[in-house]
Amino acid sequence: MLENLRIAVRKQKKLVLIFFLTIFLPALTLSVFGVRAIRSERFRLARQEETEARRAAGLIRAHIRSEIESFARIIVETAQEPALVAKDLNGGLEAVGKRFASDPLAGQTVLLYKGGTASFPLLQAPPGMRPAAGARAVNAALADGIRRAETLEFVDRNYRAAAARYRALSTSTPDRNLRADLLSRQARCLQKAEDFQGAARVYAGVAGDYAESRAPSGLPLGLIARLQAVECYLRLGNPQEAAGAALDAYRAVLGKPSTLTEDQFKTYASLVEEAFDRFLALETGRKIPEATRAEYEALRTDRTAMDREWAETGMLESEIVPELERRLALSEEYSPEPYRISRKIEDGDILFVGAWIAERNGPGTAGVLGVRLDVEHLAGATLAEALAGAGLEDGAEVVVADLTGRPLAGEGSPTTDAPLATEYFEGNFPPWRIELFRGPAQGPGVLDLRRNFYFWTILTLVVVLAFGAFLIARTIGQEMEILKIKSDFVSSVSHEFKTPLTSIRSLMERLADGKVRDPAKMDRYFGIIAHDTERLTRLVNNLLDFSKIEEGKKEYDFAETDVARIAMEQVEAYRKGQVQEGPEIRLEVAGEIPDIRADAEALTRALANLLGNAIKFTPAGKAVRVVLRRDGEHIVLEVADEGIGIHPDEVGKVFEKFFQGRNAHDLSARGTGLGLTLVKHIAEAHGGRVLVESEVGRGSKFTLVLPIGA
Ligand code: ADP
Repeated sequence: MLENLRIAVRKQKKLVLIFFLTIFLPALTLSVFGVRAIRSERFRLARQEETEARRAAGLIRAHIRSEIESFARIIVETAQEPALVAKDLNGGLEAVGKRFASDPLAGQTVLLYKGGTASFPLLQAPPGMRPAAGARAVNAALADGIRRAETLEFVDRNYRAAAARYRALSTSTPDRNLRADLLSRQARCLQKAEDFQGAARVYAGVAGDYAESRAPSGLPLGLIARLQAVECYLRLGNPQEAAGAALDAYRAVLGKPSTLTEDQFKTYASLVEEAFDRFLALETGRKIPEATRAEYEALRTDRTAMDREWAETGMLESEIVPELERRLALSEEYSPEPYRISRKIEDGDILFVGAWIAERNGPGTAGVLGVRLDVEHLAGATLAEALAGAGLEDGAEVVVADLTGRPLAGEGSPTTDAPLATEYFEGNFPPWRIELFRGPAQGPGVLDLRRNFYFWTILTLVVVLAFGAFLIARTIGQEMEILKIKSDFVSSVSHEFKTPLTSIRSLMERLADGKVRDPAKMDRYFGIIAHDTERLTRLVNNLLDFSKIEEGKKEYDFAETDVARIAMEQVEAYRKGQVQEGPEIRLEVAGEIPDIRADAEALTRALANLLGNAIKFTPAGKAVRVVLRRDGEHIVLEVADEGIGIHPDEVGKVFEKFFQGRNAHDLSARGTGLGLTLVKHIAEAHGGRVLVESEVGRGSKFTLVLPIGA
């Protein structure tokens, strides 16, 4: 096998060399260049993509930065407002409100003066602007009057008299807080006397005229009067009026900046809500107009928002104000530079920008105005604008994450790939990072291989190479096949010669020795020798015929021929030549067989081959039948045996030259594989054909069909 391969390769050396030099080497070189070109193209595209991503990320960052910068400038400008510098609370509050109340980027503001307490101007009026608690110190006469009125109210329970006394006292003092207090007491007594009409009127007066007044305990008298009025209207069976008064009270509670403390805000807001919910649930509550209900609902939403604001200011108070106080204490010279604080808290970030307020007369710093950035707005609308302005390529994904990598905004979830570009903000303000990823729409390496010239070149080369290699392999394979056939053939032919020659030699020796005297035995010996000689002749003739056929030189000698005679002679010859026990050979000639024009010798040889095979593959005890009959314009010569048969997959190949079946190997009945090839050639030369039917274990039938009038 290996030897054959070597010989085959050596024989095709030229072909292999030519293939190697003209196809393989150029193809290999071109492929190497192609692959390199693809690589550098990929690299270039990746670089380009990265640069593009950097540019886009840079643009996004620049947009957000500039938004923050201009916001910071507004804060610095506001801090320079004369009212704030002059510590004019009213004016300052107005300036802050004007600038920041409707700026979507602004959260809560903090205003802090050196040595003062922090206030949150957008939500809560600075301490200086909140009404002070009412004074307890009144003159002795007034105090005495109040005590008497209280005795009437609480001990004697003479409410009308008490009410009249409180009212009279209220006119005797210029102190507004005290007056509001006394009027409230009057209304309270009227309420106790069940004069709800009167009580409601007095409460309405207090609410209207003394909205800012405070009791000595700090309670907002105006607000309380409103709440009490609600009660009175309810008792009067007038829910509409009650609802109107409750809405007034609610508006007062929700007013901004609030003059209440956080606790007061929460208490009074809840009281109003309770009252409202109570009379909404009443039978008469149905009469409350839709518009009033709608307004109540709207105010409820405001309240929720304000709760959040209170919470936010609380957070600023604990997280940011201490730092502001510290910085303010340390600051000496006024600086117009804004400063930034960023704090990580449980639910998000605090981003805070502060600006110094200059001392009015002097170089130092008087206070600080700071604004918390609305991070939601920054990560929402502002970022969306930035993304829109960045001109992102199709499919690119942006993820804006905090420094720990938790995404704040952006499309999709971060892929597992490394980002193409990552940008951080200067001073980590905001403490975010912008990452640009290649989108899923873009293939790996971006380079579209299908449209790439190099790719197609390489593919073509690979196909050419593969095809060339296939051809070479096939040629070598064929060469090997021929070599194998040759050597098999030589060994088959030698074997075919050897067997009869050995037999002839040994018989001749015995005869020559003179040991064989029995004439019958001698006859048999001569018969065998004749048969073997016949066999050798047939073999040689087969070989000669085959080589003539191969060279195209085979000629047939046509003459009137009696096929029946040929059949009888051949059968007879085989019967005689049977040395060992073999199959029984029968001949059946059905009816008249006309002579045909044929080459008698060739036909003889064809029949001899068929018969030889049949006998070879049929064991003793079985039969071989030769049937000759006429079938219309044909003579049919059948050689049917009861032998071992041919494997189904080999039946179609038996007429191929050199073909020897597996059954031949199994039987070690070697031949040359030429017999049937010749039979076929002879049949066709006579204008006829040869057919085969076979079944393993049952036998085979070869049918020679020859035309009569050929
Ligand atoms: P050979 O000269 O070697 O016998 P043939 O061309 O005559 O070659 O036959 C080719 C092959 O066909 C044989 O090796 C055998 O396998 C198969 N064959 C031919 N005749 C018969 C038969 N009568 N019974 C079984 N096998 C047969």
